[in-house]
Amino acid sequence: MQVHELHPALSIRNLTLALSTKHSVLYPVRDLSLEVQPGSLHAIIGESGSGKSLTCRAIMRLGPHAMTIRSGSIHVGQTDVSTLRGHELSEFRGSRVGMVFQDPAPHFNPAKRVGSHLIRTLERRLNLTAEEARSRFTELLERVGLSGRDDLLQKYPHELSGGMAQRLAIAAAIAAAPPLLIADEPTTALDVTVQKSVLELIDELRRGMGLAVLFVSHDLALVEQYADDITVLYAGTAAEQNASHRLFVAPRHPYTQALLRSRPRPDAPVPPSIPGVPPRLEQLPSGCPFHPRCPAAIDPCRSDRPAPTSWPDGGQSRCHVAARNAGVTE
Ligand code: SF4
Repeated sequence: MQVHELHPALSIRNLTLALSTKHSVLYPVRDLSLEVQPGSLHAIIGESGSGKSLTCRAIMRLGPHAMTIRSGSIHVGQTDVSTLRGHELSEFRGSRVGMVFQDPAPHFNPAKRVGSHLIRTLERRLNLTAEEARSRFTELLERVGLSGRDDLLQKYPHELSGGMAQRLAIAAAIAAAPPLLIADEPTTALDVTVQKSVLELIDELRRGMGLAVLFVSHDLALVEQYADDITVLYAGTAAEQNASHRLFVAPRHPYTQALLRSRPRPDAPVPPSIPGVPPRLEQLPSGCPFHPRCPAAIDPCRSDRPAPTSWPDGGQSRCHVAARNAGVTE
């Protein structure tokens, strides 16, 4: 990944998350490091259960209650999020980081008309008068490509289309002009054409506002088109990280290679799926967590966890075989 002079909008260093259950402690994210620079889009990709959403929730300190930071750190700008408490934490959510979920429902109150609820939220969050909040709401609607404020003021959340609800959720998330937007599978529940327009909106916002975006998705086509940098997560570990244009051209980790092979293509509308299933957190295999599914596995893969190998182009991967083939020391 590129080295920037600017202070990153998000910096995660050697993060390990612990999840306490009745019988044991699980580690859904292990030793994860990544940065998101102002104005850039960093995508996290991986199968379900790879730790993508828990990483986002840890940045926002949104729980679950049983989850703690076991080691490492998360900084948004220069703020260590683990130090935030009470009022500071609520201030942080919204004014420093906006978040958009797969389901936009958390941004609305099902019993209240959408417009009036969002205007009240703006009054409270930005300390605006009712008139100022209405004017800010109109500006936000324009920014996210929605018109007809008066009509929206009258609608209840269940009356919105999926694309309209997600655009309003984005408007709510960027209302206080936070430097960082976390978008956790924001397009998964939308039609293909609406997905593209929501992604274009996020892309415009990062270009127009210099917004840093952490984008979680399992849609490789969208990620390839919009991401600057990519982290491929597998079983809570960063299997590979690199600039998007390099990762899609020359993936080094067998899991990334398998993910890319599993994309539908015009010449292979039914692409090969990755054999096997991701491991359960309670039963993580020893050594490399991908070894039971990996066609390239050798003996050390079953016993030794691969360390990150840094590549001359700035990328990193955790794979014994990739490191050996390149003659690089792990
Ligand atoms: Fe496959 Fe071994 Fe590399 Fe893991 S370390 S991805 S098992 S080759």
